[in-house]
Amino acid sequence: MVQTKKASIRVILGTGGTIAGRATAMADNVGYVAGEVAVSDLLAAVPPLAGLALEAEQIAQVDSKDMTFAIWRQLALRVAHHLERAEVQGVVITHGTDTLEETAWFLQSVLQPRKPVVMTCAMRPATAMVPDGPQNLLDAVAVAGSEDLVGVVVVCAGQVHRAEHVAKVHSYRLDAFGSGDAGPMGCVEEGGVRWFHGLPPAQGGAVVNRFQLDRVASAAVLPRVAVITSHADSDGAVVEGLLMLAEQDPTRRVRGIVVAATGNGTVHVALEKALLQAQASGVRVVRATRCARGRVIPGVRSSFPDSAGLSPVKARLALALDLMAEDSL
Ligand code: ASP
Repeated sequence: MVQTKKASIRVILGTGGTIAGRATAMADNVGYVAGEVAVSDLLAAVPPLAGLALEAEQIAQVDSKDMTFAIWRQLALRVAHHLERAEVQGVVITHGTDTLEETAWFLQSVLQPRKPVVMTCAMRPATAMVPDGPQNLLDAVAVAGSEDLVGVVVVCAGQVHRAEHVAKVHSYRLDAFGSGDAGPMGCVEEGGVRWFHGLPPAQGGAVVNRFQLDRVASAAVLPRVAVITSHADSDGAVVEGLLMLAEQDPTRRVRGIVVAATGNGTVHVALEKALLQAQASGVRVVRATRCARGRVIPGVRSSFPDSAGLSPVKARLALALDLMAEDSL
């Protein structure tokens, strides 16, 4: 019988964030600079990780509020590279909390990985008196060791969230993430991972979707999709401004608009009028709900499709990737 070598290496990719943040005073949990400490130093600060087969690579060093498509593209390429190595069991990504759910959804959508990609973060800087990053990193490495797990997940404060459901729900607390109605998919307890509903059976196929990745790799930018909010006293000014900008400078043409709509996907009548004009001029318009929980339930008549349960920021990505696919036809 041919013996295949068991995949045992976990690769840790650093992108910055508060987990790599530095403050001048150890009691300061908010006045820090994100993205300062190297990922190799983050690992060195977690003694129980010593002796494990880990590799570290710094992809970026940013505050994730400043995340860019260029970093996403590079990150996706490096994640794919490592996942395709037979000896790699999974990848962990250290990341800021602010746009973590967007990066998670981007990587899930583009790569559709068949090995674990575990994103983690911290709400307190590395220099804090009681930092949360080291425990989160330790937990993330444990989750990345789960042989049956596939896809992109987020580990924070002992909980595991699916990329599709995860959202930052608190601006300060250590358990800053939630999975809405779906709830977390599992938790990490003393290094052990407990899945609340089991894991879906593994399916065959490529480790990553190279077809989609190649498309992203050759793109200079993501098609421009704006997110705007429908609120009391809304008017069409923002949409009109976007259309005017496109007339003045075609390189800044908006291709899509996601409207963070009220309740079950309803849009202020004045904003709706402007959105209909935008749609008539070729701009794709999608409705997502601005509610923190729930989704737009089909059944209400509307001129705009809904986001199929995606939050406004994830719907922006879905629409941008869809436009990118359309462009390549
Ligand atoms: N602004 C930081 C970031 O997203 C916040 C954090 O990581 O908690 O990088």
